[in-house]
Amino acid sequence: MGFADYRVALVTGASSGIGDATVRRLRAEGLEVHALARDEVRLATLAETTGCIPHALDVRDVERITALASSIDVDVLVNNAGQSRQGDILNNSASDVDALIDVNLRAVLHLTRLFVPGMVQRNRGHVITISSIAGHYAFPGGNTVYHATKAGVHSLSQQLRVHLYGSRVRVTEISPARVETEVFARLLGDAEEAQKRFYDGYEALQPEDIADAIAFAVGSPPRMNVSFMEILPTLQVVGGLNFARNPAMSIQA
Ligand code: NDP
Repeated sequence: MGFADYRVALVTGASSGIGDATVRRLRAEGLEVHALARDEVRLATLAETTGCIPHALDVRDVERITALASSIDVDVLVNNAGQSRQGDILNNSASDVDALIDVNLRAVLHLTRLFVPGMVQRNRGHVITISSIAGHYAFPGGNTVYHATKAGVHSLSQQLRVHLYGSRVRVTEISPARVETEVFARLLGDAEEAQKRFYDGYEALQPEDIADAIAFAVGSPPRMNVSFMEILPTLQVVGGLNFARNPAMSIQA
């Protein structure tokens, strides 16, 4: 397998960031690309410039996703749509918790349920999941619900690969660290503040870096399944250990 064996791709979260770059990359490789997100206007522009097929819908809309699955055979499914929230589980609203689970995890499970059986039947396919370093590590400032959903994406990727054992359906999980997209602007509701806080002065990954990684995995020879890629900016590392001193315990001078 490789690009020559695949004909059709579906990319979720295609209206900005990593999804937008992935649509462009897969189109450049000659695939028919179905681009899915809620923003109809952005998708229409993307369709004009790339020739992708836009689907303005919410990944949480199981009915419409089911209808889409019954209308197209997909060889490459890129599960990319995702959201985050400010704060943490201790102060998030019920709807924040539900939205993160529904978009980041539940939708990925439904898309898998609906699109992968066809791949198995055709004995040809590739599932890409975009998790996050948040799914693998704990670190300050992360939202617990977001971390949990991304850990879920990691787990489903691992188990799906086992389930597909013996078939030519590959599963690639890509776990990025900071990528310069709209994720933080959406998180803060303030693009300028997000730029200042998360990107100015930082050499972040670009969406095209992740799209290139996806293209590498998809274009790999049939014998090769790129199962997992953790992608960090060179100047960002994960690691650390916190140990607070107990103020009630005395310290020897
Ligand atoms: P963006 O905010 O730029 O893009 C998010 C995309 O998801 C948009 O196209 C948005 O489109 C779509 N989306 C959100 N909610 C829904 C929904 N309910 N239904 C359909 N589409 C939806 O962020 P990124 O490109 O950074 O995010 C892509 C993925 O990468 C996410 O899963 C994110 O968690 C992950 N990631 C990002 C990192 C980063 O630093 N940027 C690091 C690690 C992982 P619309 O609003 O039009 O629906």
